Amino acid sequence: MTRDDWVLFAPMRMEARALRRGLSPGAPLCRTGRGLARAGRAAARHSGAGALAVAGIAGGLTTALRPGDVVVATEVRRADRPDEPAVPCPAAPMVAAALRRRGLTVHLGPVVTSRRLVDGPVRARLAATGALATDTESAALLAGAAGRPVICVRVVADVPPERLYRPLTWKRVRAALRTLPKVAPVLVEWAAATSAGEVVLAAPRSFCAGVERAISAVEQALARHGPPVYVRKQIVHNTHVIADLQRRGAVFVDELTEIPDGAPTVFSAHGVAPAVRAAAADRGLPVIDATCPLVTKVHSEARRFAGRGNTVLLIGHAGHEETEGTLGEAPGRIALVESVSDAERVEVADPDRVSYLVQTTLAADEVARVLDVLRRRFPALTGPSSDDICYATTNRQAALREVAAVSDVVLVLGSANSSNSRRLVEVTERGGTPAYLVDAVDAIDLRWLAGARTIGVTAGASAPPRLVDEAVAALAGLGVDGIREYTTHTEDVHFTLPKEIRTP
Ligand code: SF4
Repeated sequence: MTRDDWVLFAPMRMEARALRRGLSPGAPLCRTGRGLARAGRAAARHSGAGALAVAGIAGGLTTALRPGDVVVATEVRRADRPDEPAVPCPAAPMVAAALRRRGLTVHLGPVVTSRRLVDGPVRARLAATGALATDTESAALLAGAAGRPVICVRVVADVPPERLYRPLTWKRVRAALRTLPKVAPVLVEWAAATSAGEVVLAAPRSFCAGVERAISAVEQALARHGPPVYVRKQIVHNTHVIADLQRRGAVFVDELTEIPDGAPTVFSAHGVAPAVRAAAADRGLPVIDATCPLVTKVHSEARRFAGRGNTVLLIGHAGHEETEGTLGEAPGRIALVESVSDAERVEVADPDRVSYLVQTTLAADEVARVLDVLRRRFPALTGPSSDDICYATTNRQAALREVAAVSDVVLVLGSANSSNSRRLVEVTERGGTPAYLVDAVDAIDLRWLAGARTIGVTAGASAPPRLVDEAVAALAGLGVDGIREYTTHTEDVHFTLPKEIRTP
């Protein structure tokens, strides 16, 4: 079901005409007339609308804007009523992202509505409040929204010191009007996404104990040694975590050869092969080993099985850092099995002496299919005493399966190179629910949500909780009735910090 009771307000005739060019016939476009009073009357006429959008041109308030840039309001304020609460527009990041995908230059920030066109010192005063653009209608059009989904998109026609409606700026007004037809379809996408009834959050989700420990290890190393601290590979697979630590002085490198002599060196949560440890030791690098203890367990098993003279079959994905590290534990005695077809083909020296191991972040159902083949081919196959797929991976997949079963669409917060996040998407899709991996709220495509009544949300073990909070806040702005958490496990796992930074 998509929304058919929304309205798009366009104050002036020229704005309405421009928007109409980007809309299908019959789209609910309302020309309100210019100014607060006319806007207020138009809003009253549409008090029964289920969702309210405003679009038009506006005056820019800062020189950071250029004529033709688009401002998506994070909130709409009244200039003459500073004590009146602003109208929040929580879905703004998703609308801004959709406009950027159409090639527009988009800014997110407050829009302020004035009684009349502003200039000179008034404009400077409004800019000082943090507002990006000013108009003369939006606040009145959205004032009575009362929980209904709202959005306000304005195309900048003039920027300081130029003023709207002066002859020299008409050219820019026309340019702004040419942008409005590109804005209109995005507002239709937004309206279609406002039919959601509920957001269901899977729990557990987001950071696991191994990721928290690895991030803390870098933070402690920075505190102890000062920047720069070198980290071999990404400490965990998340772009936001990496960017944050880079800002604080961490330097991420691919190989030890990029690290200066004597520099503090952190091994990532995914672990390293013994050859890397040896190379670091040869150079005398002060190493802080942030390998997750559950990855270390798999490495120990590899050594144990290989030490018995067994061929070890590692079920995992080629190229992943964890897999490379584990393969390095028993060169010549360990082979990678990526799929059922690999399992059918793999050759071993002695079928009676075969063991298997599993990458910690795989999907249990996928591994089960591969293991079925290996057990059929090698009846003497032995494995680890407890599952290699870690508790965090297992718990996040289990919780998401339950959430996906009641959801029309699932959003997984996580980066594209995060194995456990990608498995969450695959597990959901195999269950028949569409799922999308998004690095942050601005990667959510409104079209995925069209007609969805229930939106499931989770996050991979390397995705910071704040990303979930931001996504849920934006989804709430689509008018959902409720946000519910579905908990299948309560986690209380904690790992002590690496020994190199544990003692004072
Ligand atoms: S996902 Fe599992 S193996 Fe990876 S860091 Fe977290 S707890 Fe450790």
